[in-house]
Amino acid sequence: MTNPRFKAILRHGDIIAATKELPPGQLPSESFGKRVFNRSVMQKMLPKEVFQNVIAAQEGREKIKKEFADTIAVAMKEWALSHGATHFSHWFQPLTGLGAEKHDSFIEWAEPGVVIEKFSAKQLIQGEPDASSFPSGGLRTTFEARGYTGWDPTSPVFLWKAGDGITLSIPSVFFSWTGAVLDSKIPLLRSDRKINDAVLRVLKLTGIEAGFVFSTLGMEQEYFVIDRNFRNLRPDLVLLGRTVLGAPSPKGQELQDHYFGAVKDRILRFMRDFEQAAFELGIPVKTRHNEVAPAQHEVAPVFEKASLAIDHNILLMEIMRQVATKHGLCCLLHEKPFHNINGSGKHCNWSLSTDTGINLLDPTDTPENNLHFLIILTAILHAIHRHGKLLRAAIGSVSNDFRLGGHEAPPAILSAYVGRELEALLKNIEEKGWHKSSKGSDSYDLGLHVIPELKQDNTDRNRTSPFAFTGNKFEFRAVGSSFNGSLPITVLNACVADSINEIMDEIERGSSNKRKLNPKELLESVMPVLRKYIKASKAVRFEGDNYSLAWAKEAKKRGLPNIAKSLYAFDALTEKATQKAFTDILRKEELNSRYEILTEIYGHTLNIEAKTIVDLFDTEVLPAVFATIRDLAEAIEEQKDLLGKKAASRQMARLKEIHDLVEKGINLVDRIKILREDADSLAGFERSKELLEEVFPLCLELRGISDSLEALVDDRHWRLPKYREILYMV
Ligand code: ADP
Ligand code: MG
Repeated sequence: MTNPRFKAILRHGDIIAATKELPPGQLPSESFGKRVFNRSVMQKMLPKEVFQNVIAAQEGREKIKKEFADTIAVAMKEWALSHGATHFSHWFQPLTGLGAEKHDSFIEWAEPGVVIEKFSAKQLIQGEPDASSFPSGGLRTTFEARGYTGWDPTSPVFLWKAGDGITLSIPSVFFSWTGAVLDSKIPLLRSDRKINDAVLRVLKLTGIEAGFVFSTLGMEQEYFVIDRNFRNLRPDLVLLGRTVLGAPSPKGQELQDHYFGAVKDRILRFMRDFEQAAFELGIPVKTRHNEVAPAQHEVAPVFEKASLAIDHNILLMEIMRQVATKHGLCCLLHEKPFHNINGSGKHCNWSLSTDTGINLLDPTDTPENNLHFLIILTAILHAIHRHGKLLRAAIGSVSNDFRLGGHEAPPAILSAYVGRELEALLKNIEEKGWHKSSKGSDSYDLGLHVIPELKQDNTDRNRTSPFAFTGNKFEFRAVGSSFNGSLPITVLNACVADSINEIMDEIERGSSNKRKLNPKELLESVMPVLRKYIKASKAVRFEGDNYSLAWAKEAKKRGLPNIAKSLYAFDALTEKATQKAFTDILRKEELNSRYEILTEIYGHTLNIEAKTIVDLFDTEVLPAVFATIRDLAEAIEEQKDLLGKKAASRQMARLKEIHDLVEKGINLVDRIKILREDADSLAGFERSKELLEEVFPLCLELRGISDSLEALVDDRHWRLPKYREILYMV
């Protein structure tokens, strides 16, 4: 039989030749939000007071009024049916990480044997999937497995199209019958409420008017796109989204010719197609470009309210996967699909906004009064300093561990970069107190303009920092490409809110004055407190190269945690300081359940990795190697009269080299099998630790052996698509 790899290579040429151009796309303004039960649809279909109630609920200001729910449900159903929907589904985010859905059709008996389409308020508001198979981290035993989904009106209802099926999807939260939080959305929404309450205290003090405050988020999503035929021939890509073996391509990313390079026709068609689908779902995708690694790209939307941005990111990832399949492609969202090639991240651009449109992390948004900025900035630095390990846990996974700390992604040390100008300002406050500038005079007038001359576009960006200030927002760059952003953003919101509250308590304690302070008094009461906190969190600020070894040493001196393996960070979720920061967000048992789940998933993933590489070595690598050995031995035997002694022994040495590698490989496989079984007799953290410390290093060694063999094996016998094909033939 011919090698399937060659078939895929030949087919690739045909695919490229046969692809037709897409017809011109619709204008975004025409298609945007077409599949969303959006404002204008609601305005048309709902009575005014009902409409206003839904909008208020969307903004988190009101609850949906019970008496309106039926009207809303009927309107949703009419709208969905008119667009060809047949089913509805509560769409929620269980602790598996991504989205979950269970479809029900709209049918109901009208009379025996006759059905009508019906959708009631009850069905809209609450669902009851049999939820016993979702991870709950011990929060819910199977006999009381009942889990409920509840409509989350802060995120709009939409029509999900998969194949020919159209489903009315209702963004929902997920909890157990005892009220335990089983999803990642409830904590996120609660963390937003917490940051609202905390920031409003600051704004009240500094005299900025606002009704409410929320976190904003713009996620830069990196991904790979490869030909589906190659992917289908790689069980590791099918099962893990990552290659567990594969010799490097002679050409890697060293020429840096892919970054911002011209996008290939086939990829651009894919991008256009998924962008169109995203627009229809109201996802404001804006930026697209090639990334550093071959076959790697990025898409970034315009930022939105954080909880909506996360819903949209999850939908976008799913759309990208599905549209890629339609194009004969495969979209890889894994953090590290290819060894020695850059991995993918999801840079979370995060800020805080008022309902009145002020970006609270943009000091130039309120130039005449930006004291709030300095208070919030101080609180953020304090939060990153105190909760470094927790933030590390929130971005932790096996897949992200592959990426962090390489020369491509921030290290496992959480530091913050604020830019040269703010750094100078903080230093000044730290060393001299706020009122003495380097010029010796009052550096700030006695208005509340405490940030002097900060340029909006500060170009001195530090691309190596895991948490970098970029002029009007922070960019949390350590988040992994495949992540649901909820946990990292919940942790960020929770910790920052906690810090703000701590600082505000201290400021308020210091000024016994109940009346409104004049600007001078206000600065006098605020600045000493900020100075104290800025000093205390100084260790977390770092301007230099985060990728350097020197930084790891320096960070150690500064007492910053450097946790290379996420498994050892997860217990931060169970610590007292975390429980305090999570007051009103998650209870102790709920935090513990997250610890259990993350720890368990970590072990499961390593176990699948180990089983996959062993399987590939046994069933793909070895047979190819043995075929090569046979050919080689035969050739040497046949030609031995012709070959001189020296040449014969050199060729035998090549054979011996292959034999030695095979021996080492088989030995490793045997040890991995035994150790994996040993690990299975353990549970929880101990099992994951065994897999991480004992099994995983052997898998890496086995990979090294396999990659050496790949470079020696007859190309005709090697059936697994090679890096040079996967990465360059798209
Ligand atoms: P780059 O980092 O590539 O220069 P930008 O900084 O302009 O690009 O934007 C990156 C992402 O940050 C985009 O998704 C953008 O919408 C988002 N962003 C911009 N301002 C904010 C903000 N105030 N809050 C959250 N995200 C923001
Ligand atoms: Mg950016």
